[in-house]
Amino acid sequence: MAEVDLHLHTTFSDGTLTPSELVRLCASNGVKIISVSDHDSTEGLREAEEAIHQFSDMELIPGVELSTDVPNAEVHLLGYFVDVEDANFQRVLARFREGRVERGRSMVERLNELGLGITWERVQQIADGASIGRPHIAQALVEAGYVKYPKDAFDKYIGRNGVAYVERIRVTPVDAVGILIDNGALPVLAHPTYYDDKSQQGDDSGLRTVLQELKDAGLVGMEVYYKDYTPDQVVQLKRLADDFDLVPCGGTDYHASGNPGEPEPGAAGPAMDTVVELKRLKKERAVAS
Ligand code: AMP
Ligand code: ZN
Ligand code: FE
Ligand code: FE
Repeated sequence: MAEVDLHLHTTFSDGTLTPSELVRLCASNGVKIISVSDHDSTEGLREAEEAIHQFSDMELIPGVELSTDVPNAEVHLLGYFVDVEDANFQRVLARFREGRVERGRSMVERLNELGLGITWERVQQIADGASIGRPHIAQALVEAGYVKYPKDAFDKYIGRNGVAYVERIRVTPVDAVGILIDNGALPVLAHPTYYDDKSQQGDDSGLRTVLQELKDAGLVGMEVYYKDYTPDQVVQLKRLADDFDLVPCGGTDYHASGNPGEPEPGAAGPAMDTVVELKRLKKERAVAS
C-alpha cells in the first residue's frame, strides 16, 4: 500500500463517500498524505480538513480536478494546494458546475431517445447537490436495471465516444492549466493514458505533443502511479515524466463507485519524495508571485 494517494473523490462530486468517511478509510488503509480532488468543486475540502485533524499523522493536500474534452478523448487536470478563497476561481468552478447540469440533462435526453427511461429528477436526487457527473447518470441506469454496474453504462452509452455522450463547456487543456496557475495551484496531468487509444497501447507520440504544450503553459507534474496501471505502464510513464521534467504523481482516483474490483485508497500512489517536491514547487511559486 502507498502512503500517499493524491487523487480521491467524495460526495461533493461523483464519489459516494463523504469526506469524513473517505478520510477514515484512508486512515485504516495506512494512507498518510491524501488529496481530495473533486470535479470542479472545492466544497468537500473543509470537511476533509476537519476530519483529518483527528489523525495526527495524516495530512491533506487541498485539490481539485478540471476536465476538458479534446477530439475523441478527455484531458483532466489536477490542481494541488488550491486556494479555495480565490473568488475568481470559485466563479469559474461555479460556471463549470452549471455546464455539468446542462450537459447531464442533455445526456439524459439522449438516453430517453434511445428508449432508456431514466429521469433527470432522479439523477439530481442521486447527485444530491454535488457537482454532477456521468457516474450519477450511470447510477440511475443501474437502479433502473438497464446495466449491471456503473462502468457498463460508460461502455454502452456515456463513455467519451458513446452514443449518449455530450461534450462539456469548451475549455482547452491549456486553458485549464492557466486557470489553475492563476489560482496558485500546481497543475498536474491526470491519468495520461486516457489521452487517446494510442497512448493506451504504448504509442505516446500524441501524448508527448500535449505534454509539451501543457509544460509550456506551466504543468508541473503528471500521474504515473494510478489505480490499476501495470508495472510496465508505470515504467513507461515515469520515463515520460522524467523526459519532461514533471513530478511523478498519482493516486487511485477512488470514487467508491460500486464497480467490481475498484482499487481502494492507497492501492496506488507516489512516494513521499513527490510530496516533498510538490511542496517545494508550491513555495517557489508563492515567492515568485
Ligand atoms: P464527467 O465528469 O461527468 O465527465 O464524468 C467523469 C467520471 O466518470 C470519472 O471521474 C469517472 O469517475 C467516471 N468514468 C469515466 N469513464 C469511466 C468508465 N469507462 N467506467 C467507469 N467510470 C468512468
Ligand atoms: Zn469522477
Ligand atoms: Fe479524471
Ligand atoms: Fe478523478
